[in-house]
Amino acid sequence: MTGNSEWKERGDKVFIGTYSRFPAAMVRGKGCRLWDADGREYVDFLSGIAVCSLGHCHPAVTEAVCTQAGTLMHVSNLFYTAPQIELAEMLTANSFADKVFMANSGAEANEAAIKLARIHSGPDRYEIISLSGSFHGRTLATVAATGQPKFHRGFDPLPQGFVHAEFGDPLSLEGLINEKTCAILCEPLQGESGVRPLEPEYLQTIRKLCDKHDLLLIFDEVQTGMGRTGTLFAYQQLGVVPDIMTVAKALGNGLPIGAMLTREDIAVSLGVGTHASTFGGNPVAAAAAVAVMRIMLEDGFFAGVREQGEYLAGRLTGVAARFPDLATGVRGSGLLLGLVLTEKGINLGAEIVEQLFQQGVLINFAGNRVLRFIPPLIVGRAEIDALIDRLAEVLAGLSS
Ligand SMILES: *Cc1c(COP(=O)(O)O)cnc(C)c1O
Repeated sequence: MTGNSEWKERGDKVFIGTYSRFPAAMVRGKGCRLWDADGREYVDFLSGIAVCSLGHCHPAVTEAVCTQAGTLMHVSNLFYTAPQIELAEMLTANSFADKVFMANSGAEANEAAIKLARIHSGPDRYEIISLSGSFHGRTLATVAATGQPKFHRGFDPLPQGFVHAEFGDPLSLEGLINEKTCAILCEPLQGESGVRPLEPEYLQTIRKLCDKHDLLLIFDEVQTGMGRTGTLFAYQQLGVVPDIMTVAKALGNGLPIGAMLTREDIAVSLGVGTHASTFGGNPVAAAAAVAVMRIMLEDGFFAGVREQGEYLAGRLTGVAARFPDLATGVRGSGLLLGLVLTEKGINLGAEIVEQLFQQGVLINFAGNRVLRFIPPLIVGRAEIDALIDRLAEVLAGLSS
């Protein structure tokens, strides 16, 4: 049988080198576990980057996908399909929104939000303010919105009309508002740049600034949405309601699907022909998402996420206390948690991730600053305990 090293060699020959990958070819997944081509087993605290929130190959999602794939795979948005309608009904019934546009990814959902904000406010108002450290995607407009220069390098000229306020500083935000501004775009909790929550008071100030200056508030919940922080959407526990919201990652538990949600009075600005996607809301992806939502909306699901999140945060806090030379504490919400590292810890971050990988535990080093833990939301104490044991072992070997 073909093993990891042979797959790696073949892959490296044919892929454009945009990714730095673990040297493993994954062949099978179930729940919180993955197996590679050498037959090694992993405990997964990455979930395909916060995607497989119900665990790998959840039977209800697999069943929905297989049934739909055998019935109707694709017709485009020239027609109605039942799964897409059911999904939009569930999303609107469980959020502030009345209307949905279906996309295939987080970046595409954000592109739709950016286009909506502009067409709704234009033609003279088009500027969007986002925050330093933010991540909104890799298309040209979403990379321009992303507040991290390292993602811009080499791609000039970027689309115009994106400016970045200093994270956590309401004055910096207010100073950027002018007659051209149409929206403020932010993640309720920054995921990629190192699990950085926005304080509720800060978010409330952002909401007030939007109201005062007649701006749209766009929440990028691509990573925080779909139960990750312990409620269906993160905004639901922050006392702030956006005007536009995007979701993707965990929506299809691995099938590519994203959505942009808004209120009816804003949605009317995107009329026939203004925006489209051939695959958006594809029946198979939508059927997966309907299955995901049914499970998440069952009694007790989000309470379970909060409970395991508290348990994991508590255990990680214990680890930080044991190794103060490497870690200073824990931040995040629900099961989107980061172990904050000291300067020394940051220098060893890649090494920690690598050693855990060798030990059969998958995590990542978000923003090269914080060890990020984003397990499937169905993670149990046994897996959390296994992670903590191995993490403590690895840190003990690196601590002075
Ligand atoms: C992952 C992510 C995106 C981009 O999603 P893609 O599906 O990779 O295009 C956008 N915003 C946030 C907050 C994300 O975490």
